Amino acid sequence: MSVRRLALILGDQLSFDLPSLQALDPQQDAVLLAEVAAETDYVPHHPQKIALIFSAMRHFAEALRERGWCVHYVTLDDVQNSGSLPGELQRWATQLQAAEVHLTECGEWRLEDQLQHCDVPIIWHADHRFVCGRDEFAQWAEGRKQLRMEFFYREMRRKTGLLMNGDGTPVGGAWNFDAENRKALPKQVKAPMTARFPADAITQEVLALVAERFSHHYGSLASFDYPVTHAEAEGLWQHFLDCALPAFGDYQDAMAVGEPFLFHARISAALNIGLLDVRRLCADVEAAYWQGRVPLNAAEGFIRQLIGWREYVRGIYWMHMPEYAERNAFGNTRPLPEFYWTGKTRMKCMSQAIGQTLEHAYAHHIQRLMVTGNFALLAGIQPSQVCDWYLAVYMDAFDWVELPNTLGMVMHADGGYLGSKPYCSSGQYIKRMSNYCGDCAYKVTESVGEQACPFNALYWHFLMRHREQLGGNHRLGMVYRGLDKMSEAKQQGLWARGEQLLAHLDAGEAL
Ligand code: FAD
Ligand code: SF4
Repeated sequence: MSVRRLALILGDQLSFDLPSLQALDPQQDAVLLAEVAAETDYVPHHPQKIALIFSAMRHFAEALRERGWCVHYVTLDDVQNSGSLPGELQRWATQLQAAEVHLTECGEWRLEDQLQHCDVPIIWHADHRFVCGRDEFAQWAEGRKQLRMEFFYREMRRKTGLLMNGDGTPVGGAWNFDAENRKALPKQVKAPMTARFPADAITQEVLALVAERFSHHYGSLASFDYPVTHAEAEGLWQHFLDCALPAFGDYQDAMAVGEPFLFHARISAALNIGLLDVRRLCADVEAAYWQGRVPLNAAEGFIRQLIGWREYVRGIYWMHMPEYAERNAFGNTRPLPEFYWTGKTRMKCMSQAIGQTLEHAYAHHIQRLMVTGNFALLAGIQPSQVCDWYLAVYMDAFDWVELPNTLGMVMHADGGYLGSKPYCSSGQYIKRMSNYCGDCAYKVTESVGEQACPFNALYWHFLMRHREQLGGNHRLGMVYRGLDKMSEAKQQGLWARGEQLLAHLDAGEAL
């Protein structure tokens, strides 16, 4: 059998309007999807993430067949499976005597590099599923010493016309309503029920395969309930629009014991693998605003995450890979503490964020940034180890989005290129935005002594030890002035407590 053209579709390219699919003809051409070992273990991916991708791939293959495509599907346990995507592409291109091989640009630099170096000549297609192309971002960034998400976001608002008035001004008279989006969760406010998607026969088969092959990876498979088809992803999205979006803005930064999802959409994994379309999501949110179903701070806040942050981090990734991954502006060398993999720590905020990550492969943005991320920053953990952890444990983690968020936003390891100041804070921030501290073995009101919240002394220790790099940052001016006003004895006490906590970590002890 020979085919005119063959398109390799990757596990995060499950969109019917994928450019490489659009370039082909179902009557004459064929597509290839392959589950390969090399993509499952370059970091120890959470079992639910592997299950999601394999199940969604199998469902997508079925849907393509129903649409008349000739689909070649290689399962993980196929005896002829070469174990890698370049290997499978080569095997099938030869076997089918494909005259042309088509591929949409990859999400990850690592894989694109491998495929570019394989023996099959590939016709590449730009990934139009993003609002801002790789080249367009590079043009925007050209000549700017320091990038700012806010300015990029305004460009994307103008480009898409989302929440814009006819005269080119933003709806509501401001570009950003973040100041309204920092409320803690009042006791009487309850998060909506989560939309759950029971496993069908295909998913059950995948769950069995994953349980057998990947039980040694961290994370539980038991609570898998994610959407694996376009229709299910749409169901999750509609549930969010109806039940959570109206309060999304207000409680975007809130955290609460036993509430893993609050008013968040949980759509990132479905979006990143192609089951949802970013332009559609933004159009729906804008429509909900015009229909008076959601307030402006929620609509604008949500759209900013999608056409602002999401596109911004992707642009930075593709402009600076592969060297971006090596950056370590603070020269951190401390290994990632073991409790990141087990959740066994007396710090309630950390055990909650890590615990729900192991259970659901999910934590929301503020948990990732201001709890697990903040701790890694303050404790001086080696950025590459922190990045590998985030890449492994989250359902939605793909290098293009995980790496800049972790290395740039959380670890400030790019020296302030992505964000103008490190997102560092003491336990006070966590106390303000959550109810974790009331239930913690440590006392958030104390900074020194055995019972003192570790975030407090580590925060000041971080600022003291990086004074040379950060002292001149005008956004930290007030913080450093506060430090300087402290008595010598107080500063010494904080330093000593910080040293003690770091020594515990270096001895491999959980805090
Ligand atoms: P919601 O809070 O409901 O937000 C809506 C959508 O906005 C998300 O689905 C996502 O697509 C987008 N979004 C929000 N913030 C960001 C952001 N900073 N960067 C990119 N998109 C954003 N997101 C990923 O998709 N994959 C990752 O691997 C990833 N790693 C992260 C690592 C760290 C250290 C941090 C701080 C953030 C990371 N994020 C990542 C961004 C964000 O935390 C997740 O997108 C979000 O928590 C997903 O949950 P949700 O769908 O409920 O999002
Ligand atoms: Fe976290 Fe400190 Fe609060 Fe405990 S007291 S939950 S360690 S911030």
